[in-house]
Amino acid sequence: MGQNNESTSTNKQSVAWKVFSAFVSDDQISVTEDELLSYATNDLKLNLNELPEGMREDLIPILLAYMNVWTGWKYKGDFLAGKFTKMHYFERFQKYMCYKMKNTVQWVYAAGIVKDLDDQQIKPVILNKSNNNTDLEFSPYAIEIQCPPDMLSTLVFSNIGDDLIMKQHRAAVWQDLSTTQLLNWPHVEVRFRTQDICFVRRQETEFFRYLNFLPPESSQISESRIEHVENLPSYGRQKDCYSYIFLKEYMKVYMKALQSTGKVSSSKLEEIQTILSQFLGDVKDIDVNNSMATDTVVLFRLSPVPFSRNKKMAGKDDAEGKDERVAFCEILHPKIELVLFYFRAEQKDTPTLGFTYTDKIEISNRLNVILPDISYKCTYCKLDYKGRNSREMLLDHLKNNHKMEEQVRCTLCNKYFNVGNLAACRWQHKCHQHPPAESETVVEKE
Ligand SMILES: [Zn+2]
Ligand SMILES: [Zn+2]
Repeated sequence: MGQNNESTSTNKQSVAWKVFSAFVSDDQISVTEDELLSYATNDLKLNLNELPEGMREDLIPILLAYMNVWTGWKYKGDFLAGKFTKMHYFERFQKYMCYKMKNTVQWVYAAGIVKDLDDQQIKPVILNKSNNNTDLEFSPYAIEIQCPPDMLSTLVFSNIGDDLIMKQHRAAVWQDLSTTQLLNWPHVEVRFRTQDICFVRRQETEFFRYLNFLPPESSQISESRIEHVENLPSYGRQKDCYSYIFLKEYMKVYMKALQSTGKVSSSKLEEIQTILSQFLGDVKDIDVNNSMATDTVVLFRLSPVPFSRNKKMAGKDDAEGKDERVAFCEILHPKIELVLFYFRAEQKDTPTLGFTYTDKIEISNRLNVILPDISYKCTYCKLDYKGRNSREMLLDHLKNNHKMEEQVRCTLCNKYFNVGNLAACRWQHKCHQHPPAESETVVEKE
């Protein structure tokens, strides 16, 4: 332990030490209100003059409540058995108290901000942890919503007077998803594996959730498509780079071989074809020398502009800013994480393009040689679907447990889109390229 003379936490005369000792030995002590306030200011470094409104009078009950519910008390037996020193035990207690009280103050600040209906400078409250935990500019505090997926898609917040309320609205009617839509649906991951190729494609749509009065401000187009690149350890495998053209030509030969067996159902062929074309689409979107390297994780944005949802419980639109109800805002940034683990197609020395493995498929009678291994994952629920019907199992899961996605609004052109329509075309729409043309691929809802 470093010697920190500034801290009074090791002072055995301190109120904190007295209270802690009493808890540890089950002793009765009496502590005055002033002593507890000095604990808050000296040990926990709270500035009483800067406390949010309404918190000062509750400070002592809150302090005592946290002292009582500390999970560390369950190690009292270990402490009494001499497994660690009292000082060590005490320091853990102090750390917990500092953390809890600091968070509580931030929480009350946030609640105060939400309550302040006249404040147009309102800062949103993130309800899920942002990837960047240090970026709190966006929100006074960050908490995570942990709820069943269908609740997440039907959640709505509002206020009645000063009270915040949370409710579920009715789920939108389920629309059956095509394979393309499924692959671009939030929380869906697919893993494709054959003897020649193995890749994982994961939807990494980023969600910011917060409460606010106004819809999110329109945003800028982000210039960079790629957000993150990470090299994986290749465990002795050779790291290689393959051109888009070569991958595409290989996949053509592979699909032809599958078809020629006559043993693969048309629905399976469609599924495989779609997975491969989404993969090729990714390689094109990533746009690094028109190629893809193995053992490299690439996180990239499907859409250069984020989408938003702004849900209120009932009533008219607040375009004039007159509506003083709190809304539940979500910002979605559709992203894909792609990893090509290996591609080791052995090209044959023939005038036409041919590969050892695709030839093997053509002459095989066994489905376990012919069919690729396709598994899906719901990354929200952390569920794996393997085997021949993996796609159908995931679709059932989404239909029954997640329900339909609510429509979203482009933060640039402010138009509403059906998530199914966006997912069908890799979340692309024309607004960020040029003004919406008649050839808009996505049907607008409004
Ligand atoms: Zn799920
Ligand atoms: Zn747009």
